[in-house]
Amino acid sequence: MSERVIPLIDQRLVTQAVTIPAQPIATSGLLSDALGRPLRDLRISVTDRCNFRCSYCMPKDIFDKDYPYLPHSSLLTFEEITRVARQFVAHGVQKIRLTGGEPLLRKNLEILIGQLAALRTVEGQPLDITLTTNGSLLARKAAALKAAGLQRVTVSLDGLDDTIFRAMNDVDFPVADVLQGIEAARAAGLGPIKVNMVVKRGTNDHEILPMARHFQGSGIVLRFIEYMDVGATNGWRMDEVLPSREVIQRIHRELPLVQLEPSAPGETAERWGYADGSGEIGVISSVTQAFCRDCNRARLSTEGQLYLCLFASQGHDLRHLIRGGATDEQLASAMAAIWQGRSDRYSELRASLPQDNATGKRRVEMSYIGG
Ligand code: SAM
Repeated sequence: MSERVIPLIDQRLVTQAVTIPAQPIATSGLLSDALGRPLRDLRISVTDRCNFRCSYCMPKDIFDKDYPYLPHSSLLTFEEITRVARQFVAHGVQKIRLTGGEPLLRKNLEILIGQLAALRTVEGQPLDITLTTNGSLLARKAAALKAAGLQRVTVSLDGLDDTIFRAMNDVDFPVADVLQGIEAARAAGLGPIKVNMVVKRGTNDHEILPMARHFQGSGIVLRFIEYMDVGATNGWRMDEVLPSREVIQRIHRELPLVQLEPSAPGETAERWGYADGSGEIGVISSVTQAFCRDCNRARLSTEGQLYLCLFASQGHDLRHLIRGGATDEQLASAMAAIWQGRSDRYSELRASLPQDNATGKRRVEMSYIGG
């Protein structure tokens, strides 16, 4: 039996107070961190709740009916989220991804999307606005999301075998309904669509080829994600990680692949194309091939904590500033100072770091910080 680490302290409470710099920091769009990395990508978690209980993310025995989800008053309102996003955009953000928890569970999300869609980059361009979803509510909501200004979606799907998929989401949710959601997204014009599959060795790795075959030639980009040691509750073990190079080898043996150039700096996925031109796939290798040196992502939690790394153990409390009467200029300066001090590169250091529980530091859960 695997040893499960139960968090004794609530990591969401471990935050750093944010100070307003004495000298304002101008919003030039050229902000960079302590390692010279620009700020381009903002992930916003709009809820810490989800209707799935994937064991690698929100295991049922922890996220049960007694789990202390955030009360509504703690969540940033849509106006607060948009205010923070506007400052991020002024500092150089070009892409916003809404996530969670399951973002489609947040009521009236279309209103937030509409507000974000009205923002413009420093160059005066519309933002790239996307959303990551488990697809369960997509069939119902795709058209309204598109009408509100959402451009595209990424749908998580861990296999096509219904028995395996129902067991992995642990709420008995059928594959067919997610596939229907993907079709609704396509019909609504929410593309290019990406599908993310988390690969766990021994659990769903035999679904790699059926998934590749299913999406080949569909225009949908399937991406395989290495099972990551995020949070502190999923009982992660290295021997359950299937390295991306093995994923590529398995597909290449049956469906020949050629490596493609990255399409954007800081891209998380390595791109591969089918040699016959029938589409592309991607691999995200956070565990075996860290990509920290290009990481240009900031994360805003559901209650307004700014996180600088997916594997962080504490956030920076922006909500305190927002609700404490800070001006836009003060907010923007405080955010800039935090980014300028950023030196996080957890994935590159993973192997040499002490175990979390040895240092008393525990990573915040992905359902809270946003995937
Ligand atoms: N509920 C939405 C969804 O299912 O896509 C958004 C949130 S979810 C946390 C975002 C992504 O993180 C999903 O693709 C999920 O599969 C992935 N994820 C969660 N835990 C993970 C882990 N331990 N390793 C790798 N990916 C993980």
